[in-house]
Amino acid sequence: MRLSQYFLPVLRENPKEAEIVSHRLMLRAGMVQQASAGIYSWLPLGFRVLKKIEQIVREEQNAALAQEVLMPTIQSADLWRESGRYDDYGKEMLRITDRHERDMLYGPTNEELITDIFRTHVRSYRDLPLNLYHIQWKFRDEVRPRFGVMRGREFLMKDAYSFDTDFEAARAAYNRMFVAYLKTFARMGLTAIPMAADSGPIGGDLSHEFIILADTGESEVFYHRDWEDLTWQDQDIDYAGDLQPIVDRWTNTYAATDEMHDPATCPVVGDDLRRRRGIEVGHIFHFGTKYSAPLGARVATSDGHEVDVFMGSYGIGVSRLVGAVIEASHDEDGIIWPAAVAPFQVGVVNLKADDATCAQASANLHEQFETAGVDCLLDDRDERAGAKLATMDLIGLPWQIIVGPRGMKNGVVEVKERATGERTEMTPEAALAKLTAAAGG
Ligand code: ATP
Ligand code: MG
Repeated sequence: MRLSQYFLPVLRENPKEAEIVSHRLMLRAGMVQQASAGIYSWLPLGFRVLKKIEQIVREEQNAALAQEVLMPTIQSADLWRESGRYDDYGKEMLRITDRHERDMLYGPTNEELITDIFRTHVRSYRDLPLNLYHIQWKFRDEVRPRFGVMRGREFLMKDAYSFDTDFEAARAAYNRMFVAYLKTFARMGLTAIPMAADSGPIGGDLSHEFIILADTGESEVFYHRDWEDLTWQDQDIDYAGDLQPIVDRWTNTYAATDEMHDPATCPVVGDDLRRRRGIEVGHIFHFGTKYSAPLGARVATSDGHEVDVFMGSYGIGVSRLVGAVIEASHDEDGIIWPAAVAPFQVGVVNLKADDATCAQASANLHEQFETAGVDCLLDDRDERAGAKLATMDLIGLPWQIIVGPRGMKNGVVEVKERATGERTEMTPEAALAKLTAAAGG
């Protein structure tokens, strides 16, 4: 992509309305534009990142044996009356009336709708286990939409729903999502700590929020300091096998949200106990028969009984993650994208647009990267060199290649790694080989 033709409305000034760094950088880098409070348009650069994150989530859900569907955003109020939540949900729910005076709503979540799909088609334990998910926009009329896409009113969520005949099978379904979440966030370059969370009236230990530590986070969290050294080492998982040992290993070290943390019973004391703020990027939750019972989603078991199906739900804040990744990875010059979610892998900066040698060399690099399947953004604009370099740092692509007349005299370009700031001179051919390899191409 040539920047001269790309829609990248970069802001020079810090937008006043942005209270936290991710919101500020997303606006400055031309990733999103607010349409109304808590509702955003995604511009090309932001849209690319959103889709990268969505795709990682999708791949890991599929690997964990969940199947993708797509449910609508607009739902009928009748289903929510069946579960009793139509009145309970209160003002966070956006209620709509159609031309026939039927009550509709913009879905804040999908337990009712998925349970309706299930009860229509599934009758027997033979069809289980089953886990269905979708990646769809939600609307919640939040009291205080803020921090850009981190607490929006309209936001993109992955929500999965599992169905099983008994608690043990439901636990296995829960474990599959638990492990899938560890893998998902690690692939995005994030350490998300699974924290014991409130499991509501059902109780039990099958509720975890996945939280990224950040001073700007809205949740207060408590954890053993060992967490600061724990990172997921990527490994292949046999999702058909027993995942309990992995889950146990990741829940042995104390971590809890503030609703669950009780100083009187907390096993960690003194300096080992850390108290910080965090961003909730995912929540997994077993709720048993809470929706299947009122909606009549029942299955025959192998010994001929009929039971209300055991369910869990598993959310990931896809659009929130765009902001969360920036909160976790930036410096004073701008965003530092982890390669896996970067909008482009390489930015080529031609420092002197009117220099034929530089223009040729940078255009060649751009074309060769594209041919190699490495997403590349070529800054071919007629702009000051300083402004171009600042824009490249701001939008945070993992690698930059700086092409200038001085280097070209010696046949070299400068390769800069955004995360470390390290610069190395090399031939354009060497730069191409190095960064194609770095991008896994
Ligand atoms: P929160 O406590 O942040 O309001 P929640 O408990 O209401 O979250 P869930 O219903 O579990 O969230 O939704 C699943 C995921 O969707 C959350 O873990 C979060 O990442 C994301 N999410 C929830 N509300 C919002 C929002 N207003 N804007 C962006 N993402 C959100
Ligand atoms: Mg909420």
